[in-house]
Amino acid sequence: MKEKLYTIPMNDAMNADDECPFCYIERSIEQDQLDYVLGSCASYMEADNRELTDAEGFCRMHFKKLCDYGNTLGNGWMLKTHYMKMRKELEKLTSNYAPGKKPMFGKKKAVEANNAISAWVEERNNSCFICNRFHEMYDRYMDTFFYLYENDEKFRDKLSHGKGMCLPHFGDVCNAAENTLPDKEKPEFFKTIFKVMNDNMARIQEDVNWLIEKFDYLHKDDPWKNSKDAVPRAMQKLKGGYPSDPVYKPR
Ligand SMILES: [Zn+2]
Ligand SMILES: [Zn+2]
Repeated sequence: MKEKLYTIPMNDAMNADDECPFCYIERSIEQDQLDYVLGSCASYMEADNRELTDAEGFCRMHFKKLCDYGNTLGNGWMLKTHYMKMRKELEKLTSNYAPGKKPMFGKKKAVEANNAISAWVEERNNSCFICNRFHEMYDRYMDTFFYLYENDEKFRDKLSHGKGMCLPHFGDVCNAAENTLPDKEKPEFFKTIFKVMNDNMARIQEDVNWLIEKFDYLHKDDPWKNSKDAVPRAMQKLKGGYPSDPVYKPR
């Protein structure tokens, strides 16, 4: 069976003409998940529906977004059962813990890697209900991206004349291209995407440069051009996300 492709949202993301279509998709999935966890969906108040968030928890960034969302009682319910699960795990680990021997030489790293508690904490740190939902869909979006690239001339055109993507998502696209595209199509694809990325990094550099110039008294009456929001866009291009987004609240 052919796997489902997300051609409509992928095209929407491309048409948004943002700094990165994958960031656009990531944000939309993230907002859906914030609504799911804390929105008006009352069924989430039932413990049975929280099995996944109890087990997966949230990363630091998404705890912050859940906190900002503003549903205190919903956060309370989410935390109550998640804490029950975390405490059970912690109690088990700490009761089974036997301290090791101090290493003779500079083997600090090896000891750290063998520490059951730090391994558990690290695993918990990398576990997030919202990040996991995005990652589950991300591969399908990647497939959709290359499906459209290969089959839709308009999409290809938009890509080659567009703003490219953020560096983290660009890295993923390069990886996926190697695994997805037929070898004969690769040179053309990389040529296109490399040009788009280099051109757009240069565009942002110009926006940032002009933003600085605008603070000079000499240029105070000159137009801002595209520089007014150069800071958040330049940050997004390097690391992804939307640094200047307002806090996401229930719709
Ligand atoms: Zn991105
Ligand atoms: Zn997360």
